[in-house]
Amino acid sequence: MSTTNELASRQVESHGHRLTEPRRAVLDAIVVAGGAFTVEELCAAVPAVGRATVFRTVKLLQESGVICRLSLDDGSVRYQLSHGGHHHHLICNACGAVDEFRDSDLDALIDRNARDHGFDVSSHSIELYGRCRDCAATALPGETASVVRV
Ligand SMILES: [Zn+2]
Ligand SMILES: [Zn+2]
Ligand SMILES: [Zn+2]
Repeated sequence: MSTTNELASRQVESHGHRLTEPRRAVLDAIVVAGGAFTVEELCAAVPAVGRATVFRTVKLLQESGVICRLSLDDGSVRYQLSHGGHHHHLICNACGAVDEFRDSDLDALIDRNARDHGFDVSSHSIELYGRCRDCAATALPGETASVVRV
């Protein structure tokens, strides 16, 4: 746990911010949560830290690449610890599991499309919605009958 925090701490500082005591408390709560969380859940987890500080810290951690923002299929927004670097998300609508993938060809394609439109792109995010491997495997009876996984 402390390794994650040390890593995050350096990442935040490399972006010109300081990990103050309240910010560290927010980060600790994020590490404890272990998965995707809403800002509201985070506020509830650190009652000693003011809401405005929680919101600002989430923004700062996102800008520093410590956490990533997830736009869910139902329009809600969650965050989770990032595994580092630019990536895209695969979000399971059934169990909420979030996986990620990287694809530089896809990123190049996106940049080319932006250029074709004379668009100065600053960032992009891609979320795929559906069912994860586990949920697809336990699909409704009949749906994947006689599929044997080895
Ligand atoms: Zn991510
Ligand atoms: Zn799932
Ligand atoms: Zn990308």
